[in-house]
Amino acid sequence: MTFDIANIVKEINAQIVGSFDNYIVDNISIDSRSLHNNSGTLFFALKGQNHDAHNYIASLIKKGVFHFVVEYIPEHLASKANFLIVENTTQALQQIAAYYRSLFDFPFIGITGSNGKTIVKEWLNFLLSPDYNIVRSPKSYNSQVGVPLSIFGINEHHNLGIFEAGISQKGEMKKLEKIILPKIGIFTALGNAHDDGFGSREEKIIEKTSFFKNCEIVILEQNSDVEKHLKNAVFNWSFDNENANIFVKIVNQNNGSSTLAIHFQKNTFQVTVPFTDNIALSNAMTCIATLLFLKIQPDVIAERVTRLYPVEIRLQAKKGINNCVLIDDSYSSDYQSLKMALDFLEQQKLHQKKTIILSDVFQGGFPLEKLYTKVATAIQNNKIDRVIVIGETISKHLTDVPNLIAFQSTSEFLQQFNTQSFQNETILIKGARSFNFDEIVVLLEEKKHETVLEINLDAISYNLNFYKSKLNPATKVMVMVKAFGYGNGGYEIAKLLEHNKVDYLGVAFADEGVELRKAGITLPIIVLNPENSSFNAMMAYDLEPEIYSITGLRAFLQLAQQKNVSSYPIHIKLDTGMHRLGFEAKHLDELCELLHHNNFIEVKSIFSHLAASDDTSFDNFTKLQFERFTENSNRIIEVLKNKPIRHILNTSGIFNYPEYQLEMARLGIGLYGIGNSEIENQKLQNVSTLKSVISQIRIVEPGESIGYSRKYLLKKQLKVATIPVGYADGIRRGWGNEKGYVLIHNQKAAILGNICMDMLMVDVTSIECQPSDEVIIFGDSPNVIEIAKTMNTIPYEILTGISQRVKRVFFKN
Ligand SMILES: *Cc1c(COP(=O)(O)O)cnc(C)c1O
Repeated sequence: MTFDIANIVKEINAQIVGSFDNYIVDNISIDSRSLHNNSGTLFFALKGQNHDAHNYIASLIKKGVFHFVVEYIPEHLASKANFLIVENTTQALQQIAAYYRSLFDFPFIGITGSNGKTIVKEWLNFLLSPDYNIVRSPKSYNSQVGVPLSIFGINEHHNLGIFEAGISQKGEMKKLEKIILPKIGIFTALGNAHDDGFGSREEKIIEKTSFFKNCEIVILEQNSDVEKHLKNAVFNWSFDNENANIFVKIVNQNNGSSTLAIHFQKNTFQVTVPFTDNIALSNAMTCIATLLFLKIQPDVIAERVTRLYPVEIRLQAKKGINNCVLIDDSYSSDYQSLKMALDFLEQQKLHQKKTIILSDVFQGGFPLEKLYTKVATAIQNNKIDRVIVIGETISKHLTDVPNLIAFQSTSEFLQQFNTQSFQNETILIKGARSFNFDEIVVLLEEKKHETVLEINLDAISYNLNFYKSKLNPATKVMVMVKAFGYGNGGYEIAKLLEHNKVDYLGVAFADEGVELRKAGITLPIIVLNPENSSFNAMMAYDLEPEIYSITGLRAFLQLAQQKNVSSYPIHIKLDTGMHRLGFEAKHLDELCELLHHNNFIEVKSIFSHLAASDDTSFDNFTKLQFERFTENSNRIIEVLKNKPIRHILNTSGIFNYPEYQLEMARLGIGLYGIGNSEIENQKLQNVSTLKSVISQIRIVEPGESIGYSRKYLLKKQLKVATIPVGYADGIRRGWGNEKGYVLIHNQKAAILGNICMDMLMVDVTSIECQPSDEVIIFGDSPNVIEIAKTMNTIPYEILTGISQRVKRVFFKN
């Protein structure tokens, strides 16, 4: 992508400070973290509710970025770079994208709907790539910012665009329509996603269909509710109505495949697709309809759709062998998605060492020489330590990269594969589907356990921002990652928090902090329960102790003196009413005496903990705690030479008592999607989902019983499924005997009888399902809050009780 910025300065109503003469934009960026030195970059400083990219401009200038679109010029920077000042940077990004899009006049397919957009887009890309040079939005880049960014991937070699548009609020679709300008519209399913931004279903349909304003045709499953709002010509398909443009019947289904009879223009032909579930069939039909509309011949369609494949919508970081981390992107290999995957690798790397395994890169119509020069630059900018390329073309063209190892084919790589050559590194596996890199993933992946706890990193960022929005911008945030991140995974979450620039991490024991340091976490870490025996290790790893007693302080001071450290950061804990740990008023004289003029340590913060921040009926007590805290901390501050940070709020404190925020707050359970009240919970996103699969299904006759102690006696015949999770995984026995349930294909299946150590049985009599189908143990529903309530405990106990043998998988959308 290149274009001359001068053409649109007027259009976006920008004021120029500096010079844009002779400046050709060759890269657009909004993310300072994954940006590398690039003088051709035009950086858009976007402002969000809790985020202002203007703050990073100074550090970007140091990295060699000199062109910015801003809402204001940060102090002292006016002469250091070139700026376009606009009223709204997000809007300017959209306007420039619309301008860039208008330079191309080939047709665009625009996809919207509630579900299935990304799958339909990926499949159409696969099905149409023999006929077109396609540009598409990567992954699910379909938002107000994602769409403009993906537009800049278009170049003069393309002749078909496939873009998806997703919205969460009224009025957004219009903006995306202006940027994408689709000629062929596709409407996928209309589900309940993002319902909250809309008054009614009707309103949602009207908003979504406004995307098709300038389309020549709209392709969809026949649906009169939607079609009555379309002014366009319609090309529809249906399982029920013979009068639709395309009428489909399922001929048979077995071994995971479905054969469909397709009636179109008085002819009938059959196709077989490798799926049986309704959602996949419906997405496949939408693709087939699009191919028919584009006049692709039935026999060609039939041949191509047999090769449809499950789409990994999001990048995942998984545990690999020998302590490696894998990023599995083994389904696509085009330049745009390579760049995204490299960004993800940078964000997720837990090890300094980065490896990439890359197949031939496909970018329709692009001259190979030029394409691989770009690939080489991207790899070098990302400082990849080891580059393994597989494929004849890439081996030939990717020459200027240091540390390159080339293989002609995946099988050649697999033959020479040695598990020991991969150790303590983060590995990006990125290959076009035809290279079958999934075979490489299987070898590198840690032995699979069918039960996983999936952790949504985006939801964590979302929840963090929610609590930040309750605080003043200047208030610091400490995030508690004790107990393995409340059961969710220690370093992966710490890594994300570092990325999100929180101020402190909190752990319970020194070991936890040491683990984080070993994984490369550099944020300040406070240890809440430092044992005297761990002080040595804490100093070696820059961990900061909570000091809660005179004995502890003396022991720490003695060590600090021995090691002759100066100003070692410590945190003073006051007991103001929790009566767990901390100094009381009566200890303060002695404490002050020890701290006064002491140069070995520095009191970084003074804090206390509220006993009842979750319950406003104890308002008076909380107020009393705060008063005691203010008074006692003031006494200590008087003898210090520095001004320490003060903090007393935990999650529910932030929500209920923001007026007590002082200089910092300590966020815990809320980060993981759990608040202490109904209203609070509604504002949070679910973070962890515990998933498993069905091991076996059987029919059990009346009079028989299920499981240990014959607790469930059958009165009628039932279909029963066995799931390989039990109380040793952290599913408490109290959740058995029909008190609890799991979700299978979105339907509730009651747990029958006692939960066993490693298994449980559920009633699937009215659910269509098969062995290996997915089972949700908890997540959005049933959620941990509801499970805790049923079992008379609190969500903290359920979350931290999920055993370490359950594999954690982290993902970002
Ligand atoms: C665990 C903990 C927190 C966080 O509590 P949440 O209720 O999870 O927000 C805050 N402060 C201290 C001292 C803690 O031990």
